[in-house]
Amino acid sequence: MESRIFLSFPHLGGTEMNWIEEAFKGSWVVPLGPNVDEFEKRLSRYLEAPDVVAVSAGTAAIHMAMVMLGVGPGDEVICQSFTFAASANPVTYQGAKPVFVDSEPDTWNMDPEALEEAIIERHRTIGRYPKAIVPVHLYGMPARMDEILEIASRYGIPVIEDAAEALGSEYKGKKCGTLGKYGALSFNGNKIITTSGGGAVICPDSEAAKRVLFYVTQARENRPYYYHEHIGFNYRMSNISAGIGCGQMDVLAEHVERRRAIHRLYSEAFKGSDRITVHENPTDDFNSNFWLTTVLIDDADPEQLRQAMNSRNIETRWLWRPMHMQPVYADAPYYGGNTAESLFSRGLCLPSGSNLTDSDIERVVTTLKSVLK
Ligand SMILES: *Cc1c(COP(=O)(O)O)cnc(C)c1O
Repeated sequence: MESRIFLSFPHLGGTEMNWIEEAFKGSWVVPLGPNVDEFEKRLSRYLEAPDVVAVSAGTAAIHMAMVMLGVGPGDEVICQSFTFAASANPVTYQGAKPVFVDSEPDTWNMDPEALEEAIIERHRTIGRYPKAIVPVHLYGMPARMDEILEIASRYGIPVIEDAAEALGSEYKGKKCGTLGKYGALSFNGNKIITTSGGGAVICPDSEAAKRVLFYVTQARENRPYYYHEHIGFNYRMSNISAGIGCGQMDVLAEHVERRRAIHRLYSEAFKGSDRITVHENPTDDFNSNFWLTTVLIDDADPEQLRQAMNSRNIETRWLWRPMHMQPVYADAPYYGGNTAESLFSRGLCLPSGSNLTDSDIERVVTTLKSVLK
């Protein structure tokens, strides 16, 4: 049997261990330290955003944005339905209720029309506007941010960008995660870069970043004894994880370019296909990092394809099952049509890790074509 091709596998640059050794030498084996500072500095430079706080997970980053915006019991937050559960769960952590909206077919992300409908309808129903809006740059594809931000500002609602999958993606030349009031990144093992688990909050200014830092380190007030006026969290990134992140920053740009090159190989290979459609940037305004290359396949069952590929030692994956189709969110309001549902029923994620070779991609293409016959 040929070796296994994974969907998205950690891809180390080579210098990560040096940072970890430095941490050990200085006994910085704690959730703060020089690697955390350096990692934040490097992220800031890359994103052209000065106020970035490294935390323990992307989920924690989204949660902290909710805390900063004062999301609490009785509030509603509008979330893109077509996403991973971690986009919406922090709403629930805060005792608030998510309201889900559909995607639009070009980006697969938050449909601005459904968003506005949801805002108006929620106001009509509960007499107040949602407390925040969470668009997602799913699979790295930027959401229609101009339209979303315009609607959000018209109703005075702040936007939290879930850019967990979109490190390096750009919308109109600006890095995803820096466009809304807050942005959240993830450095989980299978994302664009790994810190073995981690995330970052992109903040609007240094005051907000200071406040996030306060909340993620247990909300200790400035007194000689432990004194608390707020509920805090233990969400700071470890100095060991940040060391991995520093090493990963050396290869980030290269890895994003490789993911894009892999996407081009798939696009080229499936160009003439009458059944396989590769998801593409809708216009030049959108520059996905193509964290995962995704395809829509006509007249096929994703599960049959997944199993057929798996039996040939190639890992593929269903698209995210929309949140309004999840038992845990069965009672949540939903606005829009069936775009997300339809994508879910027809799509597949293809192996896209930056460490895959051209011949790996060829093997995926040949195998997918043959199982479709
Ligand atoms: C991975 C992911 C998250 C959560 O990030 P973690 O670092 O795993 O907590 C949130 N949203 C989306 C869309 C993700 O893909």
